[in-house]
Amino acid sequence: MTAVADSLPRISVAAPSLDGNERDYVLECLDSTWISSAGRFITDFEKAFADYCGVKHAIACNNGTTALHLALVAMGIGPGDEVIIPSLTYIASANAVTYCGGTVVLVDNDPRTFNIDPALIEAKITPRTKAIMPVHLYGQVADMEPILAIAKKHGLMVIEDAAEAVGATYKGRMSGSLGDCATFSFFGNKIITTGEGGMITTNDDALAATMRLYRSQGMDPNRRYWFPVVGFNYRMTNIQAAIGLAQLERVEHHLAARERVVGWYEQKLSRLGNRVIKPHVEGFGRHVFWMYTVRLGEGLSTSRDQVIKDLDALGVESRPVFHPMHVMPPYAHLATDDLKQAEACGADGLNLPTHAGLTEADIDRVVAALDQVLV
Ligand SMILES: *Cc1c(COP(=O)(O)O)cnc(C)c1O
Repeated sequence: MTAVADSLPRISVAAPSLDGNERDYVLECLDSTWISSAGRFITDFEKAFADYCGVKHAIACNNGTTALHLALVAMGIGPGDEVIIPSLTYIASANAVTYCGGTVVLVDNDPRTFNIDPALIEAKITPRTKAIMPVHLYGQVADMEPILAIAKKHGLMVIEDAAEAVGATYKGRMSGSLGDCATFSFFGNKIITTGEGGMITTNDDALAATMRLYRSQGMDPNRRYWFPVVGFNYRMTNIQAAIGLAQLERVEHHLAARERVVGWYEQKLSRLGNRVIKPHVEGFGRHVFWMYTVRLGEGLSTSRDQVIKDLDALGVESRPVFHPMHVMPPYAHLATDDLKQAEACGADGLNLPTHAGLTEADIDRVVAALDQVLV
């Protein structure tokens, strides 16, 4: 199994693509000495991101997790408040609720899309429920229409965790414009990156003002060193925003490159028959494929974790689908027997290399490696 791995470069699961104005803009920060959390790139990036999502406000943060925390604080989530999230998500979705002293309530997902199953939400609503946090997992927007209808009926707020879904759409609307607010991540492996970084989007003026207040230690914007609330330092730097603005200028290029990669997978994986189940794309919008995620077919003798090791030996990096929240120590007390799809997806789901720098020859190698290891 080594000839291929020895002679060819390793194919990584994710890699940033910094082929626009990133370098020039960062140098502008250095040359001007505007390297901290004030400067033109922060306001330019926020404005451009709000325009891109079609919302009034975008509030830049130092990462996607602090964006979630800040959004929940601004929404007034506190001790005793319940927030409904899918069990199949990245840990930050749940942790942000915990940081606020809120209570995480878990819902199972649709096994085809990995996204929260709207039909299962209403049964989890109690008098303490304050918000629903759908997560647009792996780049496909959750089925928002029924979620928004349930929220309206019960007077709940909706926060989209859109960390993985920059540019995704739902029935003609952009991710980030669907709920009361939404959060994004610009970590190095996300659709666009600032190294570390995040953003909140909202159309709500009051919510946006509260977010800006809490982002910067809670300092009264009209009275220096006067702090009416306990805030945070969750600011983004001008250097991060410089990279972010350059990334956003070429977002269509980044998304198109991913779509090309997805097209190759769709075509080439067919020869593996039912050994892999390809991702299901709902007809209601653009799936931006943060990760091209397959499930392993039934009847294979090798386990998912063994597949990851065997692919690695052939020079192909892959990742398991997220472990559901309720199987991990901090949230194990939330385990119930109605979270079986999350467990199944977490057990047999596999993220294949998905980034703008991949070539057709790379995808041929990934598929050939899968063909070899899926026995
Ligand atoms: C990446 C991610 C986050 C957190 O973003 P960071 O920038 O890494 O803090 C939150 N939720 C989801 C679903 C993510 O994928």
